[in-house]
Amino acid sequence: MATKRDYYEILGVDRKAAVEDIKKAYRKMAIKFHPDKNPDDPTAEDKFKEAAEAYSVLSDENKRSQYDRFGHRGVGSSAGAGGFSGGFTMEDIFSQFGDIFGGGARGGGSPFGDMFGGGGRQRRGSDLRIKLKLDLNEVANGAEKKIKVKRHVACDTCGGNGAKNGTALETCSTCQGNGQVRKVVNTMLGQMVSSSTCPTCQGEGKTVIERCEVCAGEGRLMQDDLITLNIPGGVGDGMQLSMSGKGNVPQRGGVAGDLLIVIEEEENEHLKRDGNNVVFDMHLSFIDAALGTSMEIPTIDGKARITIEPGTQAGKILRLKGKGVKDLNGYGRGDQLVHVNVWTPQQLSSDERSTLEALRDSPNFQPKPGKNEKGFFDKMKDFFH
Ligand SMILES: [Zn+2]
Ligand SMILES: [Zn+2]
Repeated sequence: MATKRDYYEILGVDRKAAVEDIKKAYRKMAIKFHPDKNPDDPTAEDKFKEAAEAYSVLSDENKRSQYDRFGHRGVGSSAGAGGFSGGFTMEDIFSQFGDIFGGGARGGGSPFGDMFGGGGRQRRGSDLRIKLKLDLNEVANGAEKKIKVKRHVACDTCGGNGAKNGTALETCSTCQGNGQVRKVVNTMLGQMVSSSTCPTCQGEGKTVIERCEVCAGEGRLMQDDLITLNIPGGVGDGMQLSMSGKGNVPQRGGVAGDLLIVIEEEENEHLKRDGNNVVFDMHLSFIDAALGTSMEIPTIDGKARITIEPGTQAGKILRLKGKGVKDLNGYGRGDQLVHVNVWTPQQLSSDERSTLEALRDSPNFQPKPGKNEKGFFDKMKDFFH
């Protein structure tokens, strides 16, 4: 290390950062650059150590003020071979700062155990994510859906531990149950100890003597699982629901992950959703608008017949109370709004033309918007209250 980077810069914190923030920043770096998590990045370990060194100084009030005044020189870390850069081992990092990772170093094992799946804690399987298509009726009313999900489930034969007939596991002889193995490497700068996941037990600390034949020692099997989903009414496109414990079971026992269900709302041919309301664009002939009629229109729950009063104007909005989408939080349900469009014929036969011509000057056919005929703006105002 020819030139040393500024400690604040390494942790990405302000020079006035509180100890708590420094701790947080370091924890983030340590998780990001932990060598176990970056087996293919040879620079990760250096970055990991660099962050640890920065933290060791900035978390100590005395060292921090020395460093603030005199820089690297102030804390005796200016020379490449001196200070920390040569002798700061993974072991040191764990033993000195284990506490910030929660629980400290357990029995010499990695304090990262709970984060990376080693050590004694119960492990959690991975989450599964599926897309679920729902039509407007299902979205509006809620639905029970049975779906098939390919997921890892615990092996019944061994009870999930992977050993033949479910016999007890043995402590791994390679790592003595720590889940980690340490390697001492001699370098120009002195001895370095690095810690890595035990290759024999993959960090579990235990090994199976005789494998379960059904699951080949995995403790789990990939299966098609039929799952019943109860989708509440009012969900929307892109919304994510989760079912805990319906994801994958981890290898050789532990807690299953979650099943995440992403909602995809199918477009309806006739009805458009607008929040909890649904909107239908209705087209009436001007004869029907004038004489009144009854019409069958689509709703969320199938067809419904509605009455059109004689003299219905274009632009009128009819409200079918409670025919909308259920509110997700249980506040009732929306309405169906029927938007009246009056269709003007675009082609006329000569007979039709003469019939209409006869009516052209008829007094009742002259527009006479009265007080009851609200204009567009009033309608909008009424509509939105
Ligand atoms: Zn098994
Ligand atoms: Zn082991």
